[in-house]
Amino acid sequence: MYPNNFEYAAPATLQEALDLLSQNAEAKVLAGGHSLLPMMKIRLANPGMLVDLRKIAELKGIQVDGEIRVGAMTTYAELERSEELRQRLPVIAECVNVIGDPAVRNRGTIGGSLAHADPAADMPALMLALEAQMRVRGPNGERTIAAADFFVDMLQSALEPGEILTEIVIPLLPQGAGAAYEKFKHPASGYAVVGVAAVVQRGDGGQVSACRIAVTGAGPRAQRARAAEEALVSSGNLEDAAAKAADGLDLIGDAFASEEFRAHLTRVLTRRALKRAMERAG
Ligand SMILES: Cc1cc2nc3c(=O)[nH]c(=O)nc-3n(C[C@H](O)[C@H](O)[C@H](O)COP(=O)(O)OP(=O)(O)OC[C@H]3O[C@@H](n4cnc5c(N)ncnc54)[C@H](O)[C@@H]3O)c2cc1C
Repeated sequence: MYPNNFEYAAPATLQEALDLLSQNAEAKVLAGGHSLLPMMKIRLANPGMLVDLRKIAELKGIQVDGEIRVGAMTTYAELERSEELRQRLPVIAECVNVIGDPAVRNRGTIGGSLAHADPAADMPALMLALEAQMRVRGPNGERTIAAADFFVDMLQSALEPGEILTEIVIPLLPQGAGAAYEKFKHPASGYAVVGVAAVVQRGDGGQVSACRIAVTGAGPRAQRARAAEEALVSSGNLEDAAAKAADGLDLIGDAFASEEFRAHLTRVLTRRALKRAMERAG
């Protein structure tokens, strides 16, 4: 199918893009187009105008100092290729590496993935586990949304109409912390049937002092596996934590994977992700 007709603009500045959005209630932002254009072709999205962000230099790039700041229009391929990111937070490249194929990674953007809030996307889980902050600009100025508040429901983020996600701020892991991402891919689409991101922090005595686990694919949105997090910190036991990984999660079932299978995958992948995160934590 072909999309409905639409107007197209490719502004050079963020302010021009914001103005276009506020003047056109039917406008939608275009990033890499790898989710939006397929949705337009099957008429699940019918924007009257596309505001293409590709020329806006201030939305691109990776900066690493006391924290990592990634422009929303930074592609997966740019994240994967960044030597500095590989050294300072290798779990980002590990996660990007299992997204789609090279064509998807060359065009798809971190901002597009997060704003789209696909329940089977990989980046939302990783950003939840890393406690990233989303910087957003809109008609009422700038605001920052914690990843924990950003993924509201299936294909629904906390972005308000007219808002643009501009930057993702990711804290660096402290000494004694490690992270890992594990994914069970759908054999046809390659999306996550379930994906699990884990961050583990060890205290001075080597005990687990903090832990964050985030799950994608299992439910309508990326979500934290709080029961498993608490189990790992209280018992230090990997098996105890993995056994509780699906407890309290909002689960979905479909023709490919039942709720029970997704719960099972969540437990298995949590065990694997925690094991590797604990090894990396030292
Ligand atoms: C064959 C294929 C395989 C894929 N496999 C995977 C996979 O394994 N894992 C995975 O996670 N994803 C996968 N994807 C999806 C891919 O990651 C998309 O690129 C991504 O989800 C959307 O990013 P995009 O830059 O293409 O955004 P677009 O498609 O351009 O936009 C998506 C949505 O976000 C909005 N948007 C985009 N940028 C912004 C912004 N800065 N501010 C506000 N709103 C914004 C748009 O208006 C639109 O509603 C796959 C896609 C394809 C086609």
